[in-house]
Amino acid sequence: MDIKELGEFGLISRLTKDIKPQHSSTLKGIGDDAAVLDFGQEQTLVTTDILLEGVHFNLEYVPLKHLGYKAAVVNFSDIYAMNGRPTQIVVALGISKRFTVEQMEELFSGIRLACEVYGVDLVGGDTTASYTGLTISITCLGVAKKEDIVYRNGAKVNDLICCTGNLGAAYLGLQLLERERLVAEVSPEEAQKAFEGKEYLLERQLKPEARKDVIEALRKAGIKPTSMMDISDGLSSELLHICKESKVGCCVYSGKIPVDYEAVAMAEELNFDIVTCALNGGEDYELLFTIDQKDYEKIIPVEDVNIIGYIQKPELGSVLMGRNGEEIALKAQGFDAFPEGK
Ligand code: ADP
Ligand code: MG
Repeated sequence: MDIKELGEFGLISRLTKDIKPQHSSTLKGIGDDAAVLDFGQEQTLVTTDILLEGVHFNLEYVPLKHLGYKAAVVNFSDIYAMNGRPTQIVVALGISKRFTVEQMEELFSGIRLACEVYGVDLVGGDTTASYTGLTISITCLGVAKKEDIVYRNGAKVNDLICCTGNLGAAYLGLQLLERERLVAEVSPEEAQKAFEGKEYLLERQLKPEARKDVIEALRKAGIKPTSMMDISDGLSSELLHICKESKVGCCVYSGKIPVDYEAVAMAEELNFDIVTCALNGGEDYELLFTIDQKDYEKIIPVEDVNIIGYIQKPELGSVLMGRNGEEIALKAQGFDAFPEGK
């Protein structure tokens, strides 16, 4: 259906039909000039992410439902990275003429699914026509007790550096999708065959999850990280952020960086170095955090957490320790929205 048939208000009411807020902090959701929220004694966290067609996603291979899911989840990930809980989102859409009502319903079904899975209320947004493809901007609110919030600047010398899950798979998934995009133009069956056995890589790129589970597990284990952030641009770049903000150095063992076997195989196929992919590939949305050494025993049973190194004095720099004991200075080569010369 042509969006013109429904008009802006018809589209909004179709997309937001039956949305019922679950949080007691949502006093008023969709339907007035502004949402009304009451966070009581807790502190409010706010984060926003903008996704532009042609810059952040390519609809030739990204399904709209996945895109909606991812657009919401990357925001939740930022709230978890502060050791908070996401509670509400608002969704702003710029929609070009070539999109149909059904396509926007697809996109919205992904956003709504993410809200359901993570227990977040959709409380508003804005919808407008665009001349430059699809734009999705999601703003997320969250809460945390003041004493629970974890910043990037709290890492101390001798703290252990931890990261969750595994790294590099989302980047390799993107490489695979980009490669097969060209193949698919000639032969879609060939492209489909190339995806066999690589489902995990595609899932990591197209449908990432935020590590709500780890945040809850750390709380249960009685561990409050000394610093934390999510890995959206690549491990190297995020480590350097923590070190800069905390005024410390770090030492990370390349052999301890967690990678998945599908990622290892894909890297080999593409002739890429897997550690480089793990260090510099982005979009894994895992958590990078530091803990006090006294929490070592407590962290061992926490599932899916890897200790990859330690924080050291700033004079010693930020280094990667290779398998043969060689030290390489860490460099940020992750995703940069404004690369030089562009
Ligand atoms: P206004 O003209 O005051 O900006 P709108 O007509 O744009 O209001 O929106 C009406 C209601 O629908 C508001 O509650 C707004 O938050 C909500 N809304 C509009 N667009 C979206 C969207 N893309 N997602 C969720 N809610 C939306
Ligand atoms: Mg509006």
